[in-house]
Amino acid sequence: MTSTSSVHLTCLCGAISEPGTLLSDPGIPVTIEICHCNPCRYATGSLGVAFPQLGASPSQDTLGKITPYYSSQKNIRYFCSTCGSHCFVANQKNKKWFCLSGIIEPNPASKANNTQWPKDTIKVLRHDYVFDTVDGGLVPIMLNLNGRSIPTWSAAGREMDSFDLPHTDVLSLASKAMSALPPPKEDSHLLAKCHCGGVSLFIKRANYGSIPGTSAHHNSSDPAKYRASPCACRSCRLSTGVSMLYWTTIPTANVFNANASNISEDEFKPVAVGHSASSPNANPGLALKHYWSSPERCWSFCGKCGATIFYWSPDHLDVAVGILRAEEGSMARRWLDWEWGQCGFEEESIDREVCEAWKGGSEVVKKLGIES
Ligand SMILES: [Zn+2]
Ligand SMILES: [Zn+2]
Ligand SMILES: [Zn+2]
Ligand SMILES: [Zn+2]
Repeated sequence: MTSTSSVHLTCLCGAISEPGTLLSDPGIPVTIEICHCNPCRYATGSLGVAFPQLGASPSQDTLGKITPYYSSQKNIRYFCSTCGSHCFVANQKNKKWFCLSGIIEPNPASKANNTQWPKDTIKVLRHDYVFDTVDGGLVPIMLNLNGRSIPTWSAAGREMDSFDLPHTDVLSLASKAMSALPPPKEDSHLLAKCHCGGVSLFIKRANYGSIPGTSAHHNSSDPAKYRASPCACRSCRLSTGVSMLYWTTIPTANVFNANASNISEDEFKPVAVGHSASSPNANPGLALKHYWSSPERCWSFCGKCGATIFYWSPDHLDVAVGILRAEEGSMARRWLDWEWGQCGFEEESIDREVCEAWKGGSEVVKKLGIES
């Protein structure tokens, strides 16, 4: 176990900086449950969120740099006002503070001292709110981790080693969800919406046969689906507060503003992204804020709830999968073609166990019989 004095808590822009000793656990990895609930996905933009407890509230300096979002009567979620990174949660009932596990990393001093860093920031204890995902989400690939059988709960988990949802039930969720629904039609649109609704978008179904110049990022086996994959890089992790961020690459022309007033389907306005999104009123009705990590790398998030929405660079646009509202569930399998077996920037991962589970997930998914 690594001492918390060798870690710090930070965000993508670096405005947030708290010592690791703020964590109530004595060391890293922190043993903790992963939450798969709808509010966690819609508010961060990622899948599967963990909240290590803090021993005290963050400093006054930090509190002045974060924006509160009241996601329920009980919880206030806080994100960095500059870069949108989800950093902290305050439980108003028991007055406890939590951080998001993705913002924990070795502090520069411990790096310089070559402090041994563990492979994982968290050790998964349990999966909570599996039913919110409809299709099981990431849970089917994370039922057994390094010889540990991970208990699964339909909603909030209780005891440590107990469960209310057998693994066999978790494994049947995806095929049940898929069998009830026909594939989307060529002119269908998928809703993408953050938790507060400040950003809602319509995404036109992929049709790679008919979009000129869009094949560069399309290596999906199905021309009617968009490619989707996780990234474990430091920037993605800090932009959401979750150790891996799940993206789908979509041609800009297929993403429309769903918050513009009085629109009918033939008048959908394509969303403005990258440099063109910076002018005032570029996207009427959308609460988008932008953080430029370099002159050609733009991270867009909801200014009200902090959800990660887009990553833009001149050659492509990624949309955060966590905000998708597909009927068949959180993995949106009727719209997306998942690239199993590989994880972007795995060398930067702070949760190797989760990363390895993803890489080994192709076997699990094959057995489920729901993806080709
Ligand atoms: Zn920040
Ligand atoms: Zn949750
Ligand atoms: Zn990344
Ligand atoms: Zn929002």
